[in-house]
Amino acid sequence: MTLPRLVTEIPGPVSRRLQAERAQAVPPGFGVTLPVFVARATDSTLEDVDGNEFIDFASGIAVTSVGAANPRVRERIAAQAERFTHTCFMVTEYEGYVRVAQWLNDRVPGDHEKRTGLFTTGAEAVENAVKIARSYTGRPGVLVVDEAYHGRSLLTLGMTAKEHPYKTSFGPFPADIVRVPNANPLRGRPVAEVLAEIERIVDEHGGEAFAALVVEPIQGEGGFVVPAPGFLAGLRTIADRHGIVLVIDEIQSGLGRTGRLFASEHEDVTADLLLTAKALGAGLPLSAVTGRADIMDAVHPGGLGGTYAGNPLACEAALAVFEILEEPGVLEAVADIERTVRAALEPLRHEIGVVADVRGRGAMMAVEFADPDTLAPRADLAQRISAACHAAGVLTLTCGTHGNVIRLLPPLVIDPQILRAGLDILVGAIRTATADPTDPEGEA
Ligand SMILES: *Cc1c(COP(=O)(O)O)cnc(C)c1O
Repeated sequence: MTLPRLVTEIPGPVSRRLQAERAQAVPPGFGVTLPVFVARATDSTLEDVDGNEFIDFASGIAVTSVGAANPRVRERIAAQAERFTHTCFMVTEYEGYVRVAQWLNDRVPGDHEKRTGLFTTGAEAVENAVKIARSYTGRPGVLVVDEAYHGRSLLTLGMTAKEHPYKTSFGPFPADIVRVPNANPLRGRPVAEVLAEIERIVDEHGGEAFAALVVEPIQGEGGFVVPAPGFLAGLRTIADRHGIVLVIDEIQSGLGRTGRLFASEHEDVTADLLLTAKALGAGLPLSAVTGRADIMDAVHPGGLGGTYAGNPLACEAALAVFEILEEPGVLEAVADIERTVRAALEPLRHEIGVVADVRGRGAMMAVEFADPDTLAPRADLAQRISAACHAAGVLTLTCGTHGNVIRLLPPLVIDPQILRAGLDILVGAIRTATADPTDPEGEA
């Protein structure tokens, strides 16, 4: 069978009917990338209620890394559902929680003794990392990076950089958040200059002002920006110099997404606290803060938790994810995904001026559209190309502070042939959109 398989217009009639009901039931504040309703999934595809089958380059935003209907995940969840669905770990305990914590403590980089606390969403993990860092240091301030994304709760919105649509009309945000420059290789200054500027900002506030420095090893929503080499190590040095807790937000980049278990391993940088979520529960809500035992243990008994934090079904899903990630060949296949994506997209960078960058690691790859001379972002092209992919049966996502980046987040287990079929459609869409004679800035 050839994929994608389209049997109606997109969206089809059943999706359109459900969409009309949704519009009456759900406020418009919740956006949608591709307005089709999903009926079922495979390792590589999503099938909608009209029978259209889409190639999945989104993984539910880097969540269903092992596929959205992985049999091992489903079995473990079903078996747990037979036993019980919830007790609240702070009321009575269950083994799955401890097993997830042990696995993360063993694998998160760093030889030091570690502890893990489980939560529900990524934003909750970020908030708790800040709470833990404040408790440990007795300091208030939080350093964050330009173009960062850390979530949609009020503290994490304060930490997130992008104004629209995330922050518009939702302020005021918590105080004591200070933003420092990013070492964006395409648009930023040289890494040494950026690090010197950050040192200056920290000194200006006094190093003891800051509890935590929070950074994504590869930025997610911010545009899949892989920081210039040496940036993360430089932040590690600055954090050490001032006694600041270095929090590495691997919520999007962690758990095999980049071809290593953790993206920070590519830079050999060890976090004090490392955050995971998204792929952790394969779609069941689960997040984790893993870090130095002395920091994690600083919080008073009873200070951490949440009704659903570390839900037993989600823990079983995570244990299945861990088994799959440790199967031979799984992380190697992620390196193959990167090679395949680069082989398809990198030639365009030389051929088509507005293809400003092809970047990323493993199964976290992106293509940025910008004016070749001024680097002025071309969100219009990213949107148009993404829409063409959707119409042709490939689910792509955009990202970037200026919305001018298409990001590829296929399941790590995507079938290589289906990956290539999706890339062919993406490359065709890029060629068509950039050759459009009605586009005044178009490139031939
Ligand atoms: C998605 C994301 C978050 C927020 O996670 P939620 O589960 O949506 O709260 C935080 N940090 C990064 C890097 C993310 O990609």
